[in-house]
Amino acid sequence: MEIIDLDRPTPARDEVLVEVEYAGLCGSDAGIYQFKPAYERMNLPNVTGHEYTGRVAAVGDDVTTVSVGDRVIERPIRYCGSCYQCNIGEQHLCQNAVITGVDVNGAYEEFVAVPEQSIHRIPDGIEPRHAATVEPTSICVRAVTENSRVRPGDRVLVEGPGPMGQITAQIADAQGADVIVSGVGSDETYRLPLAERLGYRTVNAADEDLDAVREEFTDGIGFDVVFDATGHPSGLTTAAEQVRKGGQIVLLGQTGETTMAYTPLVRREIDIQCSFTSVYDDYERAVRMIETGEVDPEAIIDDRFSLLDSTAAFEAFIAGETCKPVFDITELRE
Ligand SMILES: [Zn+2]
Ligand SMILES: [Zn+2]
Repeated sequence: MEIIDLDRPTPARDEVLVEVEYAGLCGSDAGIYQFKPAYERMNLPNVTGHEYTGRVAAVGDDVTTVSVGDRVIERPIRYCGSCYQCNIGEQHLCQNAVITGVDVNGAYEEFVAVPEQSIHRIPDGIEPRHAATVEPTSICVRAVTENSRVRPGDRVLVEGPGPMGQITAQIADAQGADVIVSGVGSDETYRLPLAERLGYRTVNAADEDLDAVREEFTDGIGFDVVFDATGHPSGLTTAAEQVRKGGQIVLLGQTGETTMAYTPLVRREIDIQCSFTSVYDDYERAVRMIETGEVDPEAIIDDRFSLLDSTAAFEAFIAGETCKPVFDITELRE
C-alpha cells in the first residue's frame, strides 16, 4: 500500500460526491492487503476502503434525495437495479454488482463519487466515527435477524472475536440469547478480553476445552445456533461439533476450503445457512441499534492508527492485536 495523488472525482448526473471523514479497516481490506486469490481480479492501483462515512460535497444534476452537507454512508455493493436479483429485492446479490474499494476506488481518499441509489443517510445523532461502523453492523444484523433463527433463551456460540464476531454477539444478545464468544491463540491478547468487557463469556479454544464448556453451558445439549465469523476453514468443522442436533450454523466469514463428513450433518438435521452482506432494511436496523446502544461501536473501534502508516494498522489487524481500526481520513487533507 502506498499513498498516491489522484484527481478529485467529478460526480456523474446520477452520482453524489462524498467528502470522507472516517473509514474502517475490514477483514476483506486485509484480504486485499495480503492479495488473496479472491482479489486477483482487481485492477491496480485501486483505492481500498468501503466502510466509511462523510458529508455530501456535491451532487449530479439528477440527484434528488440528498443535498450538500448531508451526513451519509455508502451501501458498498453497487447494484444495477434491473437484473433478476435486484427485481426481487436481493440487491446485495446483484448479478452485475460492483464493489466499492475492490472494483472501483474506495474510501481511503478524500472524495468518493457514489451512485445516488447506494447512498444511505445517517441521522445527526450518530457520531461520525460510529457511522463508519454501520456497514459491518448491517451485515451482522442480516446474519442474526434475517438469516438465523436465534430466539430468546437460545444458547449461541459466536466463533471468532474479530469485528464481525463482536457485533454479531451483541445483536444475538439483543435478541435474548445467551452468548459465548470463542477464539484461538492470537485472540487472547486483544479480542477475547474485548468480548469479555462487552459482557460475554469467552473461550480460547487453543488451550481451553471447548467441548467441556459447551457441555456445561448448554446442559449437554449443544448450541442452538453457531455463528462462524472466524474467516478460517476450521470455523465450519468446529461449528459442526458444537451445534446441537436440529440446530443451525450461520456462516458469515469467507473461509476458503475445508473437507468434512456430511453424513453426521444430515443425520443430526443441521441447518447450514449462509449470510452475505446486507440490504437497505439491515442498514436501517443497524443505525437504530447503534442509536439505542444495543450495538456499541465505541467498544470495538480502535483509533490509534493512521492511514499515513497503513502498514502498522494492517499488520496489527492480521496479528489480532486490534479489532476495528477506524482511520481519520481528514488527515489526508493536511
Ligand atoms: Zn467490510
Ligand atoms: Zn442487479
